[in-house]
Order: sequence, then C-alpha cells, then structure tokens
Amino acid sequence: MSFILPRLPYSKDALEPHISAKTLDFHHGKHHSAYVRSLNELIEGTAFANDELETIIKKTANNTAQSRIFNNAAQVWNHNFYWKSMKPNGGGKPTGCIEQMINTDFADYMTFIANFKNAGLTQFGSGWIWLVLKNNKLEIMKTSNADTPIAHNIKPLLTVDIWEHAYYLDYQNRRGDYLDAFFKYLVNWDNANSLLG
Ligand code: MN
Repeated sequence: MSFILPRLPYSKDALEPHISAKTLDFHHGKHHSAYVRSLNELIEGTAFANDELETIIKKTANNTAQSRIFNNAAQVWNHNFYWKSMKPNGGGKPTGCIEQMINTDFADYMTFIANFKNAGLTQFGSGWIWLVLKNNKLEIMKTSNADTPIAHNIKPLLTVDIWEHAYYLDYQNRRGDYLDAFFKYLVNWDNANSLLG
C-alpha cells in the first residue's frame, strides 16, 4: 500500500485573496506532495508498509530511531486535516455545537480568538495550532514541527499550519495577519462540528 496526495477540497484560487493560488500551488503541490512521496519511500519494505496513516504515527511517536517516518507521516496527516479546516467563504463566528462549547470552555468567541492567536504568535519556529477535544472540553494546543495531537491520543477539531511556507508568500513575516484572515474568512466550522458528531 502506498499513500496518495489527496486532492484539495476546493480549487487552488478558491481561498484568494486570503491565501493565494501560488501559496496553495507550492504548499499542496510541493510541500504536502513531498511528505507523501518521502513517507512512501521510507516505509517501503518495512513493517509499516501496510499500516494505516494514524497507525504509523502512533507506532513511531517518541521513537527517535523512526523520527523520519514519524515526521513525514504526521505532516501528511496534518496537511490532510488543515485543508479541511478551511473553506471558500468560510470564517466568522461558529455555529451549532462548537459555538456552545466555545462559549462554555473559553467564556466567549472573542476570548477564544485572542487565546488562539496568542498561541500562534508565541509558537517559536515551525508548528501547528490546534483546537482539540480533551476530556470532553475544548482546548487550544500548540505542536512543534510535525508533532500532532493524534500522536498523543487527543482529538483535533481544527488546525492552522504556522510553518512559514503556509503564509510567507502572502503575508511575509506577518503571522498575526494570516491568523486573523484564517478566522475572519477561511475557517470551516462545519467540519469542526461534524467531527464532534
Ligand atoms: Mn504546511
């Protein structure tokens, strides 16, 4: 079995002007694609060759001898999830179950946004910011490099990629502006609600 690069759930220009077609062309077509290709090369002929992606992530987490497999597998999973965390004409306040839980677990939406943005701005170097479900409560989680809540048996509901390749062509060093645009115009609350079941 080998992994394939999933198609983006929207066209490459569908998130413009907030995320350009050029960014998606590189981010999906080069970066995400390279993680898939590297993972397939690394697992070929190994005990992981027939495993599901999440199984590979859990088996290789915290094992420095398998860090290359972990990093590529986790980056494949994280990007698959990131594309679904956005949609054209997304953004704005959440609805449904996720809205109620945000109001319960973060006081209100503005507090949630402020905390999430602060997590993004204070993450040193590359990584991901997540909205996760932990012990039936919403939490904001930061992970470095390829690390992922999946490796910690924590359920992700939403993610923002804060590797520079996610925003540098459109925002240069202005990570805060990218995070603002994500929540104002791109976030896919329907996907987060569907994950809550
Ligand atoms: Mn990325």
